[in-house]
This record gives sequence, C-alpha cells and structure tokens, in this order.
Amino acid sequence: MTVLVLGDQLTRRVGPLAARPDERVLMVEARAFAARHPYHPHKRTLVASAMRHFRDALRDDGRDVEYHVVETFGDGLDAHFDAHPGDDLVVMRPSSYGAADRLRDLVAARDGALTVVENETFCCSPAEFDEWYDGGTLRHEDFYRYLRRETGVLMDGDDPVGGEWNYDEANRETPPADYEPPAVPTFEPDATTRAVQDDYADLNAESWAAPEPFGWPVTRADALAALEDFCEHRLPDFGPYEDAMVAGEPTLDHALLSAPLNLGLLGPREVVERAVEASESRDDVPIESVEGFVRQILGWREFVRHAYRVGMPALADANRLDATRDLPPVYWDGDTDMACLDAAVGGVRERGYAHHIQRLMVLSNFALLYGVDPHELNRWFHVAFVDGYHWVSTPNTVEMGQYAGDLFATKPYAASANYLDRMGDYCAGCAYDPDATTGADACPFNALYWDFLAENEDDLRSNHRMGLVYSHLDDKRDADDLAGIRERAEGVRAAMSEGESPRNE
Ligand code: FAD
Ligand code: SF4
Repeated sequence: MTVLVLGDQLTRRVGPLAARPDERVLMVEARAFAARHPYHPHKRTLVASAMRHFRDALRDDGRDVEYHVVETFGDGLDAHFDAHPGDDLVVMRPSSYGAADRLRDLVAARDGALTVVENETFCCSPAEFDEWYDGGTLRHEDFYRYLRRETGVLMDGDDPVGGEWNYDEANRETPPADYEPPAVPTFEPDATTRAVQDDYADLNAESWAAPEPFGWPVTRADALAALEDFCEHRLPDFGPYEDAMVAGEPTLDHALLSAPLNLGLLGPREVVERAVEASESRDDVPIESVEGFVRQILGWREFVRHAYRVGMPALADANRLDATRDLPPVYWDGDTDMACLDAAVGGVRERGYAHHIQRLMVLSNFALLYGVDPHELNRWFHVAFVDGYHWVSTPNTVEMGQYAGDLFATKPYAASANYLDRMGDYCAGCAYDPDATTGADACPFNALYWDFLAENEDDLRSNHRMGLVYSHLDDKRDADDLAGIRERAEGVRAAMSEGESPRNE
C-alpha cells in the first residue's frame, strides 16, 4: 500500500497520510502539467516548490517518499509500478471533476489498484453538504448560516456572536486618502525554490515576462507565518475595506492566503479559528472584520467547492448568455489606458494575484460586458492566478462572474463606471471620463454596459432584479441615445480586439 499525494494535498494533518503514518508515499511532479498552459511563472514555481518542500518535510519525519520528476503523470506511475508491481494506492479525492476516474484508469492500466477516499482538506464534507442541499436552492447565505451552526464558529449558543449573521453593510467603506495598508510579507526563495525556478526557466521564458521576484509561502512554516501576519496586521481593517479599490494598493487588507489554502499548506478550519482567536484576545478586531473573513472561508470557499461538485459537468460548458467573443489582448499584455484594468492586470502580471473586488468588478465585469466566452475567461483565471484551480475558478468565473450557469447567481455582476468610481479611486487618475458614455474619452465600461443590457435583453429583462436598469435603458432608447451608445460599444470592442486603447479610435 502506498499513499499517493497530489500537488494540492500538501498536508500531514488529515487524510491517508495522517491515518497511515507508516506507509510509503508517492508524489509525481509532471512537467506536462506545467507545460499544458501558459501558466504564470509564480504559479509554476509555487506548486513545484511547495511539493518538493513537502517531500523534504515528510522525509525529515522519517517517511519513505518516492518523488518522481517526470514528463507525464503516467511516466511517474510507470516508474512506481516498475518498482512495486501490483501495488495498491490510496489517494484523497482530487478536487477537479473527473480527475479521480482518470487516475483510476491510469493506475488500472498499470495493473495497480487505486482507492479514493474523502478529501479532508475542506470543512464541510460532501455528505453534510448534500444533506443540507437536498436538491433545494443553492443560496450562499443559507449555507453559511447552516455551517456556522454546525461548526459553532462565531456562535453564542444558538445565536450569532454580535447578534447578526452578516455585517455586509459594514464591509463597504472607503479608506481615507492617506491610508497606508500594512505591508504583505514576502518569503525569500531558498535553494529548493531556486532549483525549481531553474528547472522551469525555459517554460517561463515563453510566458508572462518580468514578474516581480517570487515571494509566496511554499512551506507549512511560511504559510503559518503568513497567517499570523494577516491576523496581526490586516485583519482589523479587513472588514471595513473588503470591497474597496485603491490605486497603488494591490493587496489592501486582504489575506493573500488562497494560494497556501488551495495547496493544503493551511487548513480552512485552522485559519478561521486563528482569526476568531485573534478577535477574542484583542480589542482592535471589530466584528465586521472577523465575521467578514469567516464568511469568505467558511462561507464562500466551502460553498463554491460544493456548487462546483453539484454543477459539474454542465458548468464546464454553460453559456447562458451565448457569449462568444475572444478575450481581448489586454488581459495578457496589460497594455491599456484604462486605469482600473491596467492596475488589475498589472497585479496579475507581477504576482499572479488581484484581490476579490478587482477580480469580480474589474476583470470579470469587463469581460462580461465585452461578451467574452466565459470558458476562455475561466482558462485565463486558471493559468494567470497563483490560486487558480478548476474547482474554484469555474464557479467564481463562469457562474458568479459571467452569469453563464444556472446554479446560484441571481443576476449578472454587471456595472458601469458609476460603481467603479464609487468603490475605488482609479477613475480620478484615468485617461477616460467615468461620467461620459459616448465620445473618444468616454469610459469604455459605460457604452459596453448599456450595450450588454440591450444585447441580452431577451434573457435579462424578465429578471425582477434587473427592472430598474431596464427602465433606464428604456429612457435611453426613448431619447434616441441607444444607437450612438451601441456604436461606441462596437468601436470599443474593435479597438480592444486589436490591442488598442479605445480613445484612439
Ligand atoms: P481574501 O479577500 O483575503 O479572502 C480570504 C479567503 O477567503 C481567501 O483566501 C479565499 O480562500 C476565500 N475566499 C474568498 N472569496 C472566495 C470565493 N468567492 N471563492 C472561494 N474562496 C473565497 N479564488 C481562488 O482561490 N482561486 C481562483 O481561481 C479564484 N478565481 C476567482 C475568479 C473570479 C472571477 C472571482 C470573482 C473570484 C475568484 N476567486 C478565486 C475567489 C477570491 O477572489 C479569491 O479567493 C481571493 O481574492 C484570494 O485572495 P485573498 O487570499 O487575499 O482573499
Ligand atoms: Fe476604469 Fe472607466 Fe474609471 Fe477609467 S474611467 S478607471 S476605465 S472605470
């Protein structure tokens, strides 16, 4: 019997690694995975370095670890079964849809056997979720409250701590002009990380030129230090400024913990418990910060994991609005006069990261209005972000961001410059006018926004949550403004599809 450890299951605390401390361990670092897409160099480095560090940590524990650096995953299994014919493997269920079956086939083709056990790197098991869901309505707030009750996190008996389940209203403040968020810690590459960078230098040279130096946590110790740093310095303001966007501040008070969480270096339960502990032992963590943070991890992260499970495989092809346009080049080269897009893509190019509101209201919103094929956008999120994995990017991008599925989104996250100007300060320093809809200097979001509503009128007008915006569209139509707006939208798309900034048309 051998425990197979996948690259996003790097934990000794749960699963078969914990249950079978004396068994041999198999890990496969397959170059073909890294070569399959133009991944951000930091993502390639992060995953391979975290795997190698985990191998070393297991060996330091005295465990027998066979680690194969090979071209394909199948090559790694060949090497294993050549040495151990007919071996039985046990693995935690992979997060990606269909991956367990593909693994089983690969193992069976080599006359081995594979036992797939529950993936224990999440808080809520599939059985628990399915019992709660029971074919009903997938509503995040209901699930979140259910899980708070089940886990007892931030509960005071049967009631939520502070008296409210949700302090969303207090999560929309704008920081003062002189606000300086605490710096985010970076972790200096050691010899193992540098070796990974050398090994993948050829692939990285072909994609994403000149990111900033690598500094993501790659070990359990680094990940715990990142968690401590967040709780100590950024958790207090996390809540109030959770939805804010500030020029020159790519991380604000966000945790930057999705990468170590998605690799298994941190467990969601321990992250939540540490934040709650910090709020209980200190006076500087308001309830809207700790509850807001708990809602992201215990609520959203667990919810999308199960929504993906329930929604696949249909979600992989869903395209409710029939959006088919190509992703404009700016998502790759970041070359644009649009200040908000420039900042969001710039952050991705530099460190494989943009915070949640940039992802949802800039990167995803713009693609929605532009009419990008949701699956092309999903691929981009998957390859460009250090935390991008199919199970988490798909429900966030295809369902929530692009309104392409039919799972839990009740209306599209579509917004014009009005929202972006209210929630951030990019517009103040932008070449475009956020108040104009037509004209060479008009903000591209604006014409695209009205054009999006007109283009998808058959699908969206009957949505009762869209009634007000459609009455505004009617006003524009009645005033004979719509044709000019739609012409401007076409001009924006034509310029951007050529990699140009629309104001030069
Ligand atoms: P914080 O804002 O500090 O939040 C704390 C933690 O909560 C995160 O680390 C994350 O683990 C969790 N979290 C918060 N929101 C979500 C959510 N909607 N779904 C899942 N977990 C959440 N997250 C990924 O991990 N991988 C992705 O590929 C990914 N793609 C996204 C694509 C789009 C279009 C959108 C709108 C969101 C996406 N997210 C994704 C969710 C979320 O934006 C990131 O988890 C978060 O920005 C990570 O940064 P952070 O650690 O600083 O998060
Ligand atoms: Fe973005 Fe438009 Fe504001 Fe410029 S004016 S920052 S493009 S929303």
